[in-house]
Amino acid sequence: MSRQDTAAAEPEIRVEGLYKSFGANEVLRGIDLEIGRGEVVCVIGPSGSGKSTLLRCVNLLEEPDRGRVLVGGTELTDPDVDIDAARRRIGMVFQQFNLFPHLTVTANLTLPQRRVLGRSRAEAARVAAENLARVGLAEKADAYPAALSGGQQQRVAIARALAMGPEVMLFDEPTSALDPELVGDVLAVMRMLARDGMTMIVVTHEMSFAREVADRVVFMDGGVVVEDGAPADVIGAPRHARTRDFLSRLL
Ligand code: ADP
Ligand code: MG
Repeated sequence: MSRQDTAAAEPEIRVEGLYKSFGANEVLRGIDLEIGRGEVVCVIGPSGSGKSTLLRCVNLLEEPDRGRVLVGGTELTDPDVDIDAARRRIGMVFQQFNLFPHLTVTANLTLPQRRVLGRSRAEAARVAAENLARVGLAEKADAYPAALSGGQQQRVAIARALAMGPEVMLFDEPTSALDPELVGDVLAVMRMLARDGMTMIVVTHEMSFAREVADRVVFMDGGVVVEDGAPADVIGAPRHARTRDFLSRLL
C-alpha cells in the first residue's frame, strides 16, 4: 500500500491494548478495537463487563492505565494532546439524558455550543433548530424537559450532542431507562444517523437494532473482547460459549 492508501485506511477510532483498573478491580484487560469511518459497532455483554468504562476511556472521561486511543488519527492518550479539542470531536449519549431542567430545549442545545465552541447566539440557535428538526422535535424548541416524554428527552440529548458537530458518536445504553413504547423513536433517530454515515459505538441490549443497524457486534465479558464480527455471526451463530450463554439469557 502507498502512504496515501495507508492514511485512507486509518480507522476513525482505534483502541490499542487498553487497560483500566479501579483499585484492585481490573475492569479492562487489554482491549483492541478498530472502527472505520461511518461504521456502526454495537457492544454487548453482561453487566459489569466494562462496556461503559470502555466508552468512557474512548473519550477520556476515564484515564486508561495503559494503551492508546486514537480518534480521527489524533492520539487522545498522548499527554501533549489538547484533550478538550479532541473531545469535542466525540459526542456522547448516556442512559440518563442529563438535560438542564431549568432551561428550554433550545437553551439546552445552545448553551454548550456557546460555552465550548464560542458560537454566537444566532449561530447556536440556527444549529439547534437544525438538529431538533433532525430528531423530529422542532415543535418542542420552547418546551422544558419536564414537559417531554423520556424518549423525547433522549432525542433532545442526541440533538444536543449532534449540535456540537461530532465526528463520532458514543451511545451508552441510550434506551435502557425508557418505557418500552418510547424505545422505538430513539432507535429510529440512531438508525437515521447510521444511514447518514455517522461513526458510532452503541452499547445496547437491543438485539434487533444490533442485527439490523450494526456493521459489527462486539461481545465483551470480563474486560476483554470475546467476539467481534458481523451481527449475523456474533448474534446468529456465536462461536464462544460465553457469547451463547449471554444471548440465551436475554431471550
Ligand atoms: P458495564 O457498563 O459493562 O456494566 P462498567 O464499565 O460500568 O460495566 O463497570 C465495570 C466494573 O467497573 C464494575 O465492577 C464497576 O463497579 C466498576 N467501575 C466502573 N466505574 C467505576 C468507578 N468510577 N470507580 C470504581 N469502580 C468502577
Ligand atoms: Mg454500563
